[in-house]
Amino acid sequence: MVSPELIEILRCPACVRNGANAGLLDFIKETWFVCHDCGRKYPVKNDIPVMLIEEGDKYQATPVEQLGTPA
Ligand SMILES: [Zn+2]
Repeated sequence: MVSPELIEILRCPACVRNGANAGLLDFIKETWFVCHDCGRKYPVKNDIPVMLIEEGDKYQATPVEQLGTPA
């Protein structure tokens, strides 16, 4: 599992530069972080959040309900 402390501090790397409250993430299905601001989605692989902008780009247009298990 991903630790609650980590979930608390993680921010979207593409948006965090826009301010203190930018890039907040929703943690869904225990496997995805979804950015409130840009809609990028970051997968959790082997309990490690992959917080890379290019990774988030891949799922930006994918609706949350269509997200599967990260490959
Ligand atoms: Zn973002």
